[in-house]
Amino acid sequence: MELTKIFSFDMAHRLSFHKGKCWNLHGHTYRLEVTLTGDEDENGMVIDFNEMKKIIMDNVVDVLDHATVIYKNDELLMSSFPMELHHVIFPYEPTAENLCKWCSDRLEEAGLTIKQVVIWETPSSKAVYTK
Ligand SMILES: [Zn+2]
Repeated sequence: MELTKIFSFDMAHRLSFHKGKCWNLHGHTYRLEVTLTGDEDENGMVIDFNEMKKIIMDNVVDVLDHATVIYKNDELLMSSFPMELHHVIFPYEPTAENLCKWCSDRLEEAGLTIKQVVIWETPSSKAVYTK
């Protein structure tokens, strides 16, 4: 059985390798779709949707919402960003693709068995990570 919950958050990033507009610090309203998989218990439930929501909010949405995500090798931001502002350091460039993997890894560590993570960076652009 698969269960999906959908979230939205606002996040800033820049892509230090990019040759176009994405080189600049900018933001998106992201849509996140998390699908987990599991067997139903004797009551016909895999996990309470409220528990699923809390795990995703605590480990992903509240961490990224209104944060600036900075690639650890981005020398420009690492040397100039006011670190007292809410930020998250990533081990890789904060592309939509890498954001999917980051979310999946964190949610697996939090105990969810992830089937798929979808990140909509704009209403017409999404990345899909399927395990
Ligand atoms: Zn962007």
